[in-house]
Amino acid sequence: MGIHRPARHHVVIIGSGFGGLTTAKALKRADVDVTLISRTTSHLFQPLLYQVPTGILSEGEIAPTTRLILRKQKNLQVLLGEVESIDLHANTVTSKLMEMRTVTPFDSLIAAGAQQSYFGNDQFATYPSGMKTIDDALELRGRIRGAFEAAEVTTDHAERERRLTFVVVGAGPTGVELAGQIAELADRTLAGAFRTIEPNDCRVILLDAAPAVLPPMGQKLGLKAQRRLEKMGVEIQLNAMVTDVDYMGITIKEKDGTARRIQCACKVWSAGVQASPLGKLIAEQSDGTETDRAGRVIVEPDLTVKGHPYVFVVGDLMSVPGVPGMAQGAMQGASYATTLVKRSLKGHDDPAARTPFKYRDKGSMATVSRFSAVAQVGKLEFGGFVAWLAGLVLHLVYLVGFKNRFTTLIAWFITFVSHSRGQMAITSQMIYARLAMEKLQNHTRGALAAAEQADQLEKSRQPGRFAARGSGAGVNEQQAAG
Ligand SMILES: Cc1cc2nc3c(=O)[nH]c(=O)nc-3n(C[C@H](O)[C@H](O)[C@H](O)COP(=O)(O)OP(=O)(O)OC[C@H]3O[C@@H](n4cnc5c(N)ncnc54)[C@H](O)[C@@H]3O)c2cc1C
Repeated sequence: MGIHRPARHHVVIIGSGFGGLTTAKALKRADVDVTLISRTTSHLFQPLLYQVPTGILSEGEIAPTTRLILRKQKNLQVLLGEVESIDLHANTVTSKLMEMRTVTPFDSLIAAGAQQSYFGNDQFATYPSGMKTIDDALELRGRIRGAFEAAEVTTDHAERERRLTFVVVGAGPTGVELAGQIAELADRTLAGAFRTIEPNDCRVILLDAAPAVLPPMGQKLGLKAQRRLEKMGVEIQLNAMVTDVDYMGITIKEKDGTARRIQCACKVWSAGVQASPLGKLIAEQSDGTETDRAGRVIVEPDLTVKGHPYVFVVGDLMSVPGVPGMAQGAMQGASYATTLVKRSLKGHDDPAARTPFKYRDKGSMATVSRFSAVAQVGKLEFGGFVAWLAGLVLHLVYLVGFKNRFTTLIAWFITFVSHSRGQMAITSQMIYARLAMEKLQNHTRGALAAAEQADQLEKSRQPGRFAARGSGAGVNEQQAAG
């Protein structure tokens, strides 16, 4: 178990997302040592994640390596690892990489992090691809492309239909973007590439338990996006609650309680995110701090947890009324927390007299298709080409790294002016690796449990033999201690 003991004020950041990276960069010139711990090696630009499964961008373009972004920041170390526990009384964070555990002490902690939410139906996670990580995006690319390949091969009509039915669960921005892109992929990019598949053979369904598309963006923009998608052939099914997902398809409960099935090979879950288990870990140790239904920490007005003025929770891990789970919220929260840490170093911070965090809503948008998006900035709502162009520019501005901006621009140019997409390669690993790894883990767990059970049984059958062994071990321990 390695322990890092920096001499200066030590800031530990959990996560390399929008919250984590903003914090790290803001501490560049501060008189502190910083450790950024993340379970992923890159900073993922999630707003463009949908372009990876649909073949527009590569994962490298939207997920630059965190340690390369921060390589010049000499006061900072990046540690790869899954944070397993946080001790708010000893001020330590324990992270694990393979079987190596690292305990990192902190003076200030800034934590962020979220994961896909299946709304309590974690068994759903097996068959739909999620839309939260690079692994998810690559798996989905494999599944979309794989569905077309299988449809070309099969001679069974029903199976062919099942393979060519794509269901996106969740009609928020990501669901809208994905449904639009899958439809365009079938209609433009893959048209003519198969001998037995016509673009019209594909069915793309966008469904949601809510009664509207893009609910947070309001009725006008939701309807605008819906009409545009319908024009592209996407079927919108609202008030449709998913009650089961299996290999063959999904089961839906209608508003009137009736159940129906959609047979589909490729399904995507983009119905929401929840805080990582870290939220619960933090809240449990602070008297009076609670989590909300999504597992986010209900923080104090200064984004800290009760009784710990230098433990900040930001981004998708924090619950603050009026602050949406968006990149802007994470970045603004991170900047606010970092400012307080820097002030405290100069002795200018009085936790009891802090100005509360104030979120500035800079607007939101969703891309519907090539040349079409909907956007909301303050009271202004608009859609179409201007919104689409504004979205491209904004995403380019926030994407990290000049090289990434440049190659993304080229990839967009190729996609939008031609029928081609540059990232259509798939591998078997993309499609099978997650399920194979899960099987392997379950197998290992099962084998360990069986071995333990056999051991217990053996012990209960021959208690004398094991008691003798036990006392022997005790002697050895004593000898070792001596
Ligand atoms: C598909 C998708 C599209 C989106 N589109 C938009 C958009 O268009 N506009 C917008 O504003 N917002 C968008 N969002 C939301 C936005 O990306 C999030 O609000 C934002 O990323 C939150 O930042 P964060 O730092 O809290 O979390 P994240 O960016 O999710 O980063 C969390 C980090 O924590 C790490 N982590 C988590 N748990 C642990 C652990 N136990 N140990 C170690 N590390 C851990 C993760 O590896 C990751 O690096 C989108 C989100 C998704 C999923």
